Amino acid sequence: MKLPTLMVVFALALMQASRPATLRIYVVDVEGGGATLVISPGGQSMLIDSGSPGTAAERDSKRIADAMQAAGLTRINYLFTTHYDGDHVGGAPAANAVAHFERFFDHGEMDPKWEQNRGIEDRYRAYLEIANGKRTILKAGDTIPFAGAHLDVVASQGSVIAKPINHGGQTNPFCADAEAKEPNKTENSQSTGVLVTYNQFSFLDVGDLTWDKEMALACPTNKLGRVSLLLATHHGFFNDQSGAPALLWAIQPRVVIANNGPRKGMAANAYDRIQKVRDLEGLWQSHLALATDAAHNAPEDMIANLDQSADCKGNWIRIDAQANGSFDVTNGRNKVSKSYRAR
Ligand SMILES: [Zn+2]
Ligand SMILES: [Zn+2]
Repeated sequence: MKLPTLMVVFALALMQASRPATLRIYVVDVEGGGATLVISPGGQSMLIDSGSPGTAAERDSKRIADAMQAAGLTRINYLFTTHYDGDHVGGAPAANAVAHFERFFDHGEMDPKWEQNRGIEDRYRAYLEIANGKRTILKAGDTIPFAGAHLDVVASQGSVIAKPINHGGQTNPFCADAEAKEPNKTENSQSTGVLVTYNQFSFLDVGDLTWDKEMALACPTNKLGRVSLLLATHHGFFNDQSGAPALLWAIQPRVVIANNGPRKGMAANAYDRIQKVRDLEGLWQSHLALATDAAHNAPEDMIANLDQSADCKGNWIRIDAQANGSFDVTNGRNKVSKSYRAR
């Protein structure tokens, strides 16, 4: 190696050494589906859900590849599938072609007794084809190694954690008048959910976990403690199947991000419920919710995509979190960034 080359190598090494370790998250826009890329401070990576099947899979895997490129990744270590609805697992084979996953986490066998699961055998088989022999089936209470951060499985297979985590366990005052809902009979109820913790920072993604299971996490005691960042359940409480206030208000996220679509999730009542989180510092959305008005959408600067799906550029939202609990959220569309200080 020539001397100038060596100096460049040393300079790069120094830059990397001086950059503080960061937990980075990209909320990839897959038009009202799920695809969230998480990169641990130690450099391990995990994609939570992989977007939609069919023609949408090409679009979604390209967007996942864009986020990988932005993150400087050529592969992703883990695929974590919350559940087998098309908008969460349908894109798995296409995503695998760009991400070359080495391990697959899911809630176990697809059970046709859950509504929405009949007739999806092909989709499930396509997932098994890429995952077989590399699968880890998750139960609530499991933990997953994730260099420099901590992954707690908080729900899976219709059960939730028995013991509180993340300094939770307090009696939850929001349970008193809480609305209960019948046990949900869809695949959403089986969702595997994860709490990602990096010292003082925490991020909750429970996929499309349903209201009844959220209540089991929240009442009579809040088992999850407080979180820094919440991916709004079910794309922003789609059709009110998720978003139980007793959980939302108890975990008191500082910032909420909705992976909503132009016409999926983030109805006006979801917006109002999120605004009632005490000391909420920000709401960001993957999409402008077109069915509601400006008064029930986040400020435009905090919305990554304003167009209908056909014209949509699929901009991501990025989060950079530090060990002290401070984090920045950046809009991929306009690069507007907001800092949330350690507290
Ligand atoms: Zn979904
Ligand atoms: Zn679902």
